[in-house]
Amino acid sequence: MGAQQVAERFAELYGAEPEGVWAAPGRVNLIGEHTDYNDGFVMPFALPHRAVAAVSRRTDGVLRLHSADIDGGVVELSLDALAPGGDGNWTAYPAGVVWALRDAGHGVTGADVHLSSTVPTGAGLSSSAAVEVVIALALNDLFALDLPGWKLARLCQRAENVYVGAPTGIMDQTASACCEQGHALFLDTRDLSQRQIPFDLAAEGLRLLVVDTQVKHAHSGGEYGKRRAGCEKGAALLGVDALRDVPYDGLDAALARLGDEEEVVRLVRHVVTEDQRVERVVALLRAGETRAIGPVLTEGHASLRDDFRISCPELDLVVDTALAHGALGARMTGGGFGGSAIVLTEAAEVDTLTKAVEEAFAAAGHAAPRVFEAVPSAGARRLS
Ligand code: ADP
Ligand code: MG
Repeated sequence: MGAQQVAERFAELYGAEPEGVWAAPGRVNLIGEHTDYNDGFVMPFALPHRAVAAVSRRTDGVLRLHSADIDGGVVELSLDALAPGGDGNWTAYPAGVVWALRDAGHGVTGADVHLSSTVPTGAGLSSSAAVEVVIALALNDLFALDLPGWKLARLCQRAENVYVGAPTGIMDQTASACCEQGHALFLDTRDLSQRQIPFDLAAEGLRLLVVDTQVKHAHSGGEYGKRRAGCEKGAALLGVDALRDVPYDGLDAALARLGDEEEVVRLVRHVVTEDQRVERVVALLRAGETRAIGPVLTEGHASLRDDFRISCPELDLVVDTALAHGALGARMTGGGFGGSAIVLTEAAEVDTLTKAVEEAFAAAGHAAPRVFEAVPSAGARRLS
Protein backbone atom coordinates (compact mmCIF):
# COMPACT_ATOMS: atom_id res chain seq x y z
CA MET A 1 0.00 0.00 0.00
CA GLY A 2 1.62 3.23 -1.18
CA ALA A 3 1.82 6.50 0.73
CA GLN A 4 0.23 8.41 -2.12
CA GLN A 5 -2.87 6.24 -2.30
CA VAL A 6 -3.45 6.46 1.44
CA ALA A 7 -2.94 10.24 1.40
CA GLU A 8 -5.43 10.61 -1.46
CA ARG A 9 -8.08 8.62 0.35
CA PHE A 10 -7.46 10.70 3.48
CA ALA A 11 -8.08 13.87 1.46
CA GLU A 12 -11.35 12.43 0.11
CA LEU A 13 -12.53 11.50 3.59
CA TYR A 14 -11.49 14.58 5.50
CA GLY A 15 -11.36 17.31 2.83
CA ALA A 16 -7.69 18.25 3.27
CA GLU A 17 -4.25 16.78 2.66
CA PRO A 18 -2.79 14.85 5.60
CA GLU A 19 0.13 16.37 7.47
CA GLY A 20 2.09 13.20 6.89
CA VAL A 21 2.07 9.49 6.10
CA TRP A 22 3.72 6.80 8.22
CA ALA A 23 4.25 3.04 7.93
CA ALA A 24 4.74 0.25 10.47
CA PRO A 25 5.27 -3.41 9.56
CA GLY A 26 3.97 -6.71 10.74
CA ARG A 27 6.56 -9.21 11.90
CA VAL A 28 7.57 -12.81 11.93
CA ASN A 29 9.20 -14.23 15.00
CA LEU A 30 12.19 -16.29 13.95
CA ILE A 31 12.58 -17.91 17.37
CA GLY A 32 11.62 -17.13 20.98
CA GLU A 33 7.92 -17.98 21.37
CA HIS A 34 6.00 -17.23 24.58
CA THR A 35 9.23 -16.01 26.16
CA ASP A 36 8.38 -12.32 26.06
CA TYR A 37 6.09 -12.33 29.08
CA ASN A 38 8.66 -14.40 30.95
CA ASP A 39 11.31 -11.64 30.72
CA GLY A 40 13.14 -13.77 28.13
CA PHE A 41 14.58 -13.47 24.62
CA VAL A 42 12.85 -13.09 21.27
CA MET A 43 14.11 -12.67 17.75
CA PRO A 44 11.59 -11.19 15.32
CA PHE A 45 12.16 -9.52 12.00
CA ALA A 46 9.90 -7.10 10.14
CA LEU A 47 7.87 -8.11 7.09
CA PRO A 48 7.41 -6.03 3.95
CA HIS A 49 3.70 -6.16 4.82
CA ARG A 50 2.79 -3.01 6.68
CA ALA A 51 0.13 -0.65 7.93
CA VAL A 52 0.24 2.79 6.33
CA ALA A 53 -1.52 5.73 8.00
CA ALA A 54 -2.18 9.27 6.84
CA VAL A 55 -2.65 11.51 9.86
CA SER A 56 -3.32 15.17 10.70
CA ARG A 57 -3.49 16.85 14.09
CA ARG A 58 -6.66 18.26 15.60
CA THR A 59 -6.87 20.63 18.53
CA ASP A 60 -10.50 20.08 19.58
CA GLY A 61 -10.25 16.81 21.52
CA VAL A 62 -11.73 14.73 18.70
CA LEU A 63 -10.27 11.55 17.20
CA ARG A 64 -11.56 10.47 13.81
CA LEU A 65 -10.60 7.01 12.57
CA HIS A 66 -11.05 5.24 9.27
CA SER A 67 -9.63 1.97 7.94
CA ALA A 68 -9.67 1.05 4.27
CA ASP A 69 -9.88 -2.59 5.34
CA ILE A 70 -12.99 -2.41 7.51
CA ASP A 71 -16.54 -1.87 6.31
CA GLY A 72 -18.14 1.21 7.76
CA GLY A 73 -17.42 4.90 7.69
CA VAL A 74 -15.38 7.29 9.76
CA VAL A 75 -15.63 6.64 13.51
CA GLU A 76 -15.59 9.78 15.64
CA LEU A 77 -14.51 9.58 19.28
CA SER A 78 -14.06 12.16 21.99
CA LEU A 79 -10.64 11.97 23.67
CA ASP A 80 -12.14 12.66 27.08
CA ALA A 81 -14.42 9.65 26.69
CA LEU A 82 -11.64 7.18 25.85
CA ALA A 83 -11.53 4.49 28.53
CA PRO A 84 -10.32 0.89 28.72
CA GLY A 85 -12.72 -2.00 28.39
CA GLY A 86 -14.50 -0.80 25.28
CA ASP A 87 -16.52 -2.54 22.63
CA GLY A 88 -13.98 -4.85 21.02
CA ASN A 89 -14.08 -2.83 17.82
CA TRP A 90 -11.00 -2.39 15.59
CA THR A 91 -10.91 1.26 16.67
CA ALA A 92 -9.81 0.10 20.15
CA TYR A 93 -6.27 -0.38 18.77
CA PRO A 94 -5.65 3.17 17.52
CA ALA A 95 -7.86 4.74 20.20
CA GLY A 96 -5.98 2.73 22.83
CA VAL A 97 -2.71 4.23 21.65
CA VAL A 98 -4.10 7.75 21.95
CA TRP A 99 -5.43 6.86 25.40
CA ALA A 100 -2.05 5.41 26.50
CA LEU A 101 -0.15 8.49 25.27
CA ARG A 102 -2.52 10.87 27.05
CA ASP A 103 -2.57 8.71 30.17
CA ALA A 104 1.24 8.97 30.26
CA GLY A 105 0.88 12.77 30.21
CA HIS A 106 1.62 13.44 26.55
CA GLY A 107 -0.28 16.34 25.04
CA VAL A 108 -2.19 14.73 22.20
CA THR A 109 -5.16 16.96 21.39
CA GLY A 110 -6.87 15.01 18.62
CA ALA A 111 -6.27 13.58 15.16
CA ASP A 112 -7.76 12.54 11.86
CA VAL A 113 -6.56 9.12 10.73
CA HIS A 114 -6.99 7.01 7.63
CA LEU A 115 -5.10 3.74 7.50
CA SER A 116 -4.68 0.76 5.26
CA SER A 117 -2.71 -2.41 5.93
CA THR A 118 -1.30 -5.33 3.97
CA VAL A 119 -0.60 -7.35 7.12
CA PRO A 120 -3.05 -10.28 7.20
CA THR A 121 -5.11 -10.13 10.39
CA GLY A 122 -5.16 -12.94 12.91
CA ALA A 123 -2.38 -14.80 11.06
CA GLY A 124 0.16 -14.49 13.85
CA LEU A 125 1.94 -11.75 11.91
CA SER A 126 0.93 -8.98 14.27
CA SER A 127 -1.42 -6.81 12.28
CA SER A 128 -2.51 -5.30 15.60
CA ALA A 129 0.98 -4.03 16.48
CA ALA A 130 1.36 -2.58 12.98
CA VAL A 131 -1.80 -0.53 13.52
CA GLU A 132 -0.76 0.56 17.00
CA VAL A 133 2.80 1.48 16.10
CA VAL A 134 1.93 3.41 12.96
CA ILE A 135 -0.45 5.59 15.01
CA ALA A 136 2.05 6.01 17.84
CA LEU A 137 4.82 7.06 15.48
CA ALA A 138 2.58 9.50 13.63
CA LEU A 139 1.46 11.17 16.86
CA ASN A 140 5.02 11.15 18.19
CA ASP A 141 6.14 13.13 15.15
CA LEU A 142 3.11 15.42 14.84
CA PHE A 143 3.02 16.38 18.51
CA ALA A 144 6.84 16.47 18.78
CA LEU A 145 6.81 14.00 21.69
CA ASP A 146 10.35 12.86 20.92
CA LEU A 147 9.83 9.35 22.30
CA PRO A 148 12.28 6.61 21.25
CA GLY A 149 11.00 3.49 19.47
CA TRP A 150 11.21 1.24 22.51
CA LYS A 151 9.10 3.67 24.53
CA LEU A 152 6.47 3.94 21.81
CA ALA A 153 6.40 0.14 21.81
CA ARG A 154 5.77 0.13 25.58
CA LEU A 155 2.87 2.54 25.18
CA CYS A 156 1.42 0.45 22.36
CA GLN A 157 1.69 -2.66 24.53
CA ARG A 158 -0.16 -0.82 27.28
CA ALA A 159 -2.85 0.11 24.76
CA GLU A 160 -3.26 -3.54 23.79
CA ASN A 161 -3.06 -4.94 27.34
CA VAL A 162 -5.18 -2.40 29.16
CA TYR A 163 -7.36 -0.67 26.57
CA VAL A 164 -8.03 -3.56 24.17
CA GLY A 165 -7.73 -6.15 26.93
CA ALA A 166 -5.35 -8.59 25.16
CA PRO A 167 -2.57 -9.78 27.50
CA THR A 168 0.30 -9.76 24.98
CA GLY A 169 4.00 -9.26 25.61
CA ILE A 170 6.30 -6.53 24.32
CA MET A 171 7.71 -8.31 21.27
CA ASP A 172 5.25 -7.38 18.54
CA GLN A 173 5.29 -3.67 19.14
CA THR A 174 9.06 -3.51 19.58
CA ALA A 175 9.59 -5.47 16.38
CA SER A 176 7.32 -3.16 14.42
CA ALA A 177 8.93 -0.04 15.90
CA CYS A 178 12.61 -1.06 15.94
CA CYS A 179 13.44 -3.69 13.29
CA GLU A 180 15.89 -2.88 10.51
CA GLN A 181 16.04 -4.10 6.95
CA GLY A 182 18.21 -7.19 6.44
CA HIS A 183 18.35 -7.90 10.16
CA ALA A 184 16.59 -9.83 12.87
CA LEU A 185 16.12 -8.10 16.21
CA PHE A 186 17.61 -9.89 19.22
CA LEU A 187 15.55 -8.44 22.03
CA ASP A 188 15.96 -9.00 25.74
CA THR A 189 12.42 -8.38 26.96
CA ARG A 190 13.61 -7.83 30.54
CA ASP A 191 15.50 -4.59 29.97
CA LEU A 192 14.50 -4.06 26.32
CA SER A 193 18.14 -4.02 25.25
CA GLN A 194 18.38 -4.95 21.60
CA ARG A 195 20.89 -6.00 19.01
CA GLN A 196 20.42 -6.01 15.25
CA ILE A 197 21.65 -9.37 13.94
CA PRO A 198 22.41 -9.48 10.19
CA PHE A 199 19.97 -11.91 8.60
CA ASP A 200 20.45 -11.77 4.86
CA LEU A 201 18.94 -14.97 3.57
CA ALA A 202 19.12 -14.16 -0.13
CA ALA A 203 22.89 -13.65 0.00
CA GLU A 204 23.23 -17.25 1.15
CA GLY A 205 20.84 -18.77 -1.34
CA LEU A 206 18.23 -19.32 1.36
CA ARG A 207 14.58 -18.40 1.71
CA LEU A 208 12.19 -18.18 4.60
CA LEU A 209 8.62 -19.03 3.72
CA VAL A 210 5.65 -17.99 5.77
CA VAL A 211 2.72 -20.38 5.52
CA ASP A 212 -0.46 -18.76 6.76
CA THR A 213 -2.77 -21.67 7.59
CA GLN A 214 -5.75 -19.27 7.52
CA VAL A 215 -6.84 -20.82 10.78
CA LYS A 216 -7.78 -17.81 12.89
CA HIS A 217 -6.61 -17.62 16.44
CA ALA A 218 -8.38 -15.69 19.17
CA HIS A 219 -5.58 -14.07 21.14
CA SER A 220 -7.52 -12.45 23.87
CA GLY A 221 -9.21 -15.79 24.39
CA GLY A 222 -8.56 -17.99 27.38
CA GLU A 223 -5.76 -20.28 26.20
CA TYR A 224 -3.12 -17.57 25.97
CA GLY A 225 -4.03 -16.29 29.41
CA LYS A 226 -3.90 -19.81 30.82
CA ARG A 227 -0.37 -20.39 29.51
CA ARG A 228 0.69 -17.06 30.87
CA ALA A 229 -0.79 -17.78 34.29
CA GLY A 230 0.89 -21.20 34.27
CA CYS A 231 4.27 -19.61 33.62
CA GLU A 232 3.71 -17.16 36.47
CA LYS A 233 2.79 -20.03 38.73
CA GLY A 234 6.00 -21.82 37.74
CA ALA A 235 8.10 -18.75 38.55
CA ALA A 236 6.35 -18.37 41.90
CA LEU A 237 6.85 -22.05 42.81
CA LEU A 238 10.53 -21.77 41.89
CA GLY A 239 10.94 -18.53 43.82
CA VAL A 240 12.19 -16.48 40.85
CA ASP A 241 10.91 -13.17 39.46
CA ALA A 242 10.38 -14.70 36.03
CA LEU A 243 11.22 -17.94 34.23
CA ARG A 244 14.06 -16.04 32.60
CA ASP A 245 15.88 -16.47 35.90
CA VAL A 246 16.01 -20.27 35.72
CA PRO A 247 19.57 -21.04 34.53
CA TYR A 248 19.86 -23.43 31.57
CA ASP A 249 22.07 -25.81 33.51
CA GLY A 250 19.68 -25.66 36.46
CA LEU A 251 16.61 -26.66 34.47
CA ASP A 252 16.55 -30.33 35.45
CA ALA A 253 16.82 -29.44 39.13
CA ALA A 254 14.07 -26.83 38.75
CA LEU A 255 11.75 -29.32 37.05
CA ALA A 256 12.43 -31.85 39.78
CA ARG A 257 11.44 -29.27 42.37
CA LEU A 258 8.11 -28.73 40.60
CA GLY A 259 7.39 -32.39 41.26
CA ASP A 260 3.95 -33.51 40.18
CA GLU A 261 2.84 -30.11 38.79
CA GLU A 262 2.82 -31.79 35.38
CA GLU A 263 1.44 -28.87 33.40
CA VAL A 264 3.74 -26.32 35.02
CA VAL A 265 6.72 -28.60 34.35
CA ARG A 266 5.91 -28.62 30.65
CA LEU A 267 5.43 -24.86 30.45
CA VAL A 268 8.65 -24.13 32.34
CA ARG A 269 10.61 -26.57 30.19
CA HIS A 270 9.42 -24.88 27.03
CA VAL A 271 10.21 -21.36 28.17
CA VAL A 272 13.69 -22.12 29.49
CA THR A 273 14.76 -24.23 26.51
CA GLU A 274 13.27 -21.64 24.15
CA ASP A 275 15.40 -18.86 25.65
CA GLN A 276 18.39 -21.10 25.09
CA ARG A 277 17.34 -21.72 21.49
CA VAL A 278 17.23 -17.96 20.85
CA GLU A 279 20.78 -17.63 22.13
CA ARG A 280 21.87 -20.59 20.00
CA VAL A 281 20.35 -19.01 16.89
CA VAL A 282 22.05 -15.69 17.63
CA ALA A 283 25.41 -17.44 18.04
CA LEU A 284 24.94 -19.42 14.81
CA LEU A 285 23.96 -16.36 12.79
CA ARG A 286 26.88 -14.38 14.14
CA ALA A 287 29.16 -17.26 13.14
CA GLY A 288 27.71 -17.19 9.61
CA GLU A 289 26.13 -20.65 10.07
CA THR A 290 22.68 -19.74 8.85
CA ARG A 291 21.76 -23.22 7.62
CA ALA A 292 22.49 -24.63 11.05
CA ILE A 293 19.62 -22.66 12.62
CA GLY A 294 17.16 -24.98 10.81
CA PRO A 295 17.22 -27.81 13.36
CA VAL A 296 16.94 -25.29 16.22
CA LEU A 297 13.75 -23.92 14.67
CA THR A 298 12.38 -27.45 14.35
CA GLU A 299 13.22 -28.22 17.99
CA GLY A 300 11.30 -25.08 18.90
CA HIS A 301 8.25 -26.40 17.11
CA ALA A 302 8.37 -29.72 18.95
CA SER A 303 8.57 -27.83 22.23
CA LEU A 304 5.56 -25.65 21.38
CA ARG A 305 3.59 -28.69 20.21
CA ASP A 306 4.42 -31.14 22.98
CA ASP A 307 5.26 -28.99 26.01
CA PHE A 308 3.47 -25.69 25.52
CA ARG A 309 0.66 -27.37 23.57
CA ILE A 310 -0.40 -24.46 21.41
CA SER A 311 0.04 -25.96 17.95
CA CYS A 312 -2.83 -27.31 15.86
CA PRO A 313 -3.15 -29.98 13.13
CA GLU A 314 -2.69 -27.46 10.32
CA LEU A 315 0.55 -26.03 11.79
CA ASP A 316 1.91 -29.52 12.44
CA LEU A 317 1.08 -30.50 8.88
CA VAL A 318 3.07 -27.56 7.48
CA VAL A 319 6.09 -28.45 9.59
CA ASP A 320 5.97 -32.21 8.93
CA THR A 321 5.41 -31.77 5.20
CA ALA A 322 8.15 -29.17 4.84
CA LEU A 323 10.68 -31.33 6.68
CA ALA A 324 9.70 -34.40 4.67
CA HIS A 325 10.42 -32.42 1.50
CA GLY A 326 13.86 -31.18 2.38
CA ALA A 327 13.30 -28.00 4.42
CA LEU A 328 16.24 -27.05 6.66
CA GLY A 329 13.88 -26.29 9.54
CA ALA A 330 10.29 -25.30 10.27
CA ARG A 331 8.17 -24.14 13.16
CA MET A 332 4.91 -22.47 14.04
CA THR A 333 5.32 -18.79 14.81
CA GLY A 334 3.20 -16.36 16.80
CA GLY A 335 0.73 -17.00 19.56
CA GLY A 336 -0.44 -20.41 18.37
CA PHE A 337 -3.76 -22.25 17.79
CA GLY A 338 -3.54 -21.34 14.12
CA GLY A 339 -1.86 -18.49 12.33
CA SER A 340 1.39 -19.09 10.51
CA ALA A 341 4.38 -21.37 10.32
CA ILE A 342 7.82 -20.51 8.96
CA VAL A 343 9.97 -22.74 6.79
CA LEU A 344 13.70 -22.26 6.20
CA THR A 345 14.75 -23.67 2.86
CA GLU A 346 17.28 -23.58 0.07
CA ALA A 347 16.09 -21.11 -2.57
CA ALA A 348 15.98 -23.88 -5.18
CA GLU A 349 13.45 -25.86 -3.11
CA VAL A 350 10.82 -23.13 -2.72
CA ASP A 351 8.50 -24.31 -5.47
CA THR A 352 8.68 -27.98 -4.52
CA LEU A 353 8.00 -27.20 -0.87
CA THR A 354 5.14 -24.84 -1.61
CA LYS A 355 3.48 -27.40 -3.81
CA ALA A 356 3.99 -30.17 -1.26
CA VAL A 357 2.37 -28.11 1.51
CA GLU A 358 -0.54 -27.10 -0.72
CA GLU A 359 -1.13 -30.71 -1.74
CA ALA A 360 -0.93 -31.94 1.84
CA PHE A 361 -3.55 -29.36 2.88
CA ALA A 362 -5.84 -30.36 0.04
CA ALA A 363 -5.43 -34.05 0.88
CA ALA A 364 -6.26 -33.39 4.54
CA GLY A 365 -9.34 -31.39 3.58
CA HIS A 366 -7.98 -28.12 4.99
CA ALA A 367 -8.60 -24.77 3.29
CA ALA A 368 -5.71 -23.73 1.06
CA PRO A 369 -2.85 -22.04 2.94
CA ARG A 370 -1.32 -18.75 1.83
CA VAL A 371 2.42 -19.09 1.23
CA PHE A 372 4.76 -16.14 0.81
CA GLU A 373 8.41 -15.30 1.16
CA ALA A 374 9.45 -13.26 4.18
CA VAL A 375 12.21 -10.76 3.46
CA PRO A 376 13.60 -9.02 6.57
CA SER A 377 12.37 -5.46 6.09
CA ALA A 378 12.45 -1.99 7.64
CA GLY A 379 10.72 -1.05 10.90
CA ALA A 380 8.28 1.82 11.39
CA ARG A 381 9.13 5.09 9.66
CA ARG A 382 7.71 8.26 8.13
CA LEU A 383 7.01 7.95 4.42
CA SER A 384 6.08 11.53 3.58
P1 ADP B 1 -2.72 -10.31 14.80
O1 ADP B 1 -1.99 -11.59 15.07
O2 ADP B 1 -2.92 -10.10 13.34
O3 ADP B 1 -2.09 -9.15 15.49
P2 ADP B 1 -4.85 -9.67 16.58
O4 ADP B 1 -6.11 -10.38 16.94
O5 ADP B 1 -3.88 -9.35 17.65
O6 ADP B 1 -4.17 -10.52 15.42
O7 ADP B 1 -5.22 -8.29 15.88
C1 ADP B 1 -6.11 -8.24 14.79
C2 ADP B 1 -7.03 -7.05 14.95
O8 ADP B 1 -6.28 -5.82 14.72
C3 ADP B 1 -8.15 -7.00 13.94
O9 ADP B 1 -9.22 -7.80 14.37
C4 ADP B 1 -8.50 -5.51 13.94
O10 ADP B 1 -9.29 -5.18 15.05
C5 ADP B 1 -7.13 -4.87 14.10
N1 ADP B 1 -6.60 -4.56 12.77
C6 ADP B 1 -5.56 -5.15 12.15
N2 ADP B 1 -5.38 -4.64 10.92
C7 ADP B 1 -6.32 -3.69 10.75
C8 ADP B 1 -6.68 -2.81 9.67
N3 ADP B 1 -6.02 -2.81 8.52
N4 ADP B 1 -7.73 -1.97 9.87
C9 ADP B 1 -8.41 -1.99 11.03
N5 ADP B 1 -8.12 -2.80 12.05
C10 ADP B 1 -7.10 -3.64 11.94
MG1 MG C 1 -1.83 -9.05 17.57
